[in-house]
Amino acid sequence: MEVYLDNASTTKLDLKVRDKMQQAMEEAYGNPSSIHDKGEEAKSLIEQSRSGVAAKIGADVEDLYFTSGATESNNLAIRGLLAKSSKKHIVCSAIEHSSVLDLCKQLKKEGYRVSYAAVNSEGFVELDGTIEDDTALVIVMHANNEVGVVQDIEKIGLLCEEKGVLFHCDAAQSLCKVSIDVKKCKVSSMSFSAHKLHGPKGVGALYLSKEIEPLFYGGGQEKNIRPGTENVAGIVGFAEAVKLDHKVEAVKVLRNYLMEKIEEIPKTFVNGSKEEILCNNVNVCFKDIEGETLLQHLNLKKIYVSTGSACSSKKEGASHVLLAMGLSEKDAECSIRFSLSKDSTKEEVDYVLVSLKEIVSTLHALD
Ligand code: PMP
Repeated sequence: MEVYLDNASTTKLDLKVRDKMQQAMEEAYGNPSSIHDKGEEAKSLIEQSRSGVAAKIGADVEDLYFTSGATESNNLAIRGLLAKSSKKHIVCSAIEHSSVLDLCKQLKKEGYRVSYAAVNSEGFVELDGTIEDDTALVIVMHANNEVGVVQDIEKIGLLCEEKGVLFHCDAAQSLCKVSIDVKKCKVSSMSFSAHKLHGPKGVGALYLSKEIEPLFYGGGQEKNIRPGTENVAGIVGFAEAVKLDHKVEAVKVLRNYLMEKIEEIPKTFVNGSKEEILCNNVNVCFKDIEGETLLQHLNLKKIYVSTGSACSSKKEGASHVLLAMGLSEKDAECSIRFSLSKDSTKEEVDYVLVSLKEIVSTLHALD
């Protein structure tokens, strides 16, 4: 049996999505900017897709822009919003994705001041006292990619509105798992990525309720916010993925089963909140067993998981998210993430549990 429990890193392309993309590639191959019928055909697919994705997040259709994914959306939104503000201070949660944290490091070199908002042991961001008179922007992700903790973004949006600061939110992990209403959470900008929800890689979106400065200049596509010939098939695939049944309740039941059974294994504990987390995610510390060692043993049994985020798993050191939540370096290095999907089955989870028990007891016996 092969079990893929690394869906927070990326998901398998759904067959319905693949079929729609194939059709778009074969038939709607015109340039959406061309004014003949072949161009119009492609343009109309983009606009139908925009309506579908915008409806899912409660956005006005004209406020949604297609990009190459959440990394680009985060960079575009953060730089774009800051360029329109004269203020020089940024508040960024300590548990953001590297596409935000590395950008903030760069912005610091360019003269911005960055404060990192702490999180508590459950992973919830604490913004009290972080917003100053010179704060331009607050950055807090919706759901974290390592521990799955879901922030109360309506409360954060309200606070930002009261304080008169901009609010950027990275929703790459939460779209189609947690309901999103961009107007209720009063975001200035919100990022999305198709490959986290059984859509294709290399396509995403940015919602904007405020004006921004673009990163690129070119042919005027996406109302000059993101010029460049559109990835028509990718955009069509993204919209199709949003329409899928993501089986949130069933995934949660299966995840809870996995979580309960893992906790029965000696010397384990779940990292962070067990309640306010994504339906598909559980991050576990197996005390005294290096995450990478466990991952390799699981890999030999064709069980695929990650230690934290895929984007940082090749970098040195313990997870910045787990350290920010107060774990010791040792426990952080002994943690791994299981992330399920709508396609995960009870048989798969049972195979993982049997394998885990066997591997963990063997490794503990070597202590
Ligand atoms: N933000 C978060 C929270 C993510 O999990 C990811 C994907 N690992 C990204 C941003 C980057 O998304 P993309 O791969 O679409 O650039």
